[in-house]
Amino acid sequence: MTEQTPMVIVGTGLAGYSLAREIRKQDKEIRIVMVTADDGVSYSKPMLSTGFTKGKDAEGLAQAATEAMAEQLNLELLTYTTVTGIDTDGRRLLLGDDSLSYSKLVLAWGADVIRLTIPGDGQERVFPINDLGDYRAFRKALKPGSRVAIMGAG
Ligand SMILES: Cc1cc2nc3c(=O)[nH]c(=O)nc-3n(C[C@H](O)[C@H](O)[C@H](O)COP(=O)(O)OP(=O)(O)OC[C@H]3O[C@@H](n4cnc5c(N)ncnc54)[C@H](O)[C@@H]3O)c2cc1C
Repeated sequence: MTEQTPMVIVGTGLAGYSLAREIRKQDKEIRIVMVTADDGVSYSKPMLSTGFTKGKDAEGLAQAATEAMAEQLNLELLTYTTVTGIDTDGRRLLLGDDSLSYSKLVLAWGADVIRLTIPGDGQERVFPINDLGDYRAFRKALKPGSRVAIMGAG
């Protein structure tokens, strides 16, 4: 028997995982593959704003491991896999040298951080915080007594 061409969801953030959960309520059988550039760990992004004052590190903000999400939602998860292009005629996602065919495609790939060009020699100390990996890097760089300037008042 040939394997069913999957529905592919790009992104395992709130949008991607919520969609997969809702699809599973209606269809337990359809083959779903999720593709994410990060580790696929489930977390609540708003907690990135409050995690520091709650004394939580990146692991403390994780809600479910990637494997647990794949099992719970009965789907395949490709982590650390970046979509580099879409062949819409051939219904294929381009993943660097690889590709993945899709029957239906959902792009739940969030938003990019605006990186400011700030002059000076402190570029490596500017931390955009838009995912768990960013938060981990920020927490690692913080030392007791560090002074932090926050840019962005959302
Ligand atoms: C610090 C912070 C605090 C927030 N607080 C609130 C709040 O209090 N209330 C509120 O309503 N909203 C808040 N938001 C906004 C809200 O959380 C986000 O809009 C929402 O979580 C975005 O979810 P998403 O699934 O669309 O994107 P994301 O969570 O960003 O997920 C994007 C996914 O796509 C993947 N991806 C991206 N590009 C590619 C690619 N080329 N190939 C493969 N995978 C790719 C990423 O790896 C990731 O898995 C906050 C946002 C931030 C950053």
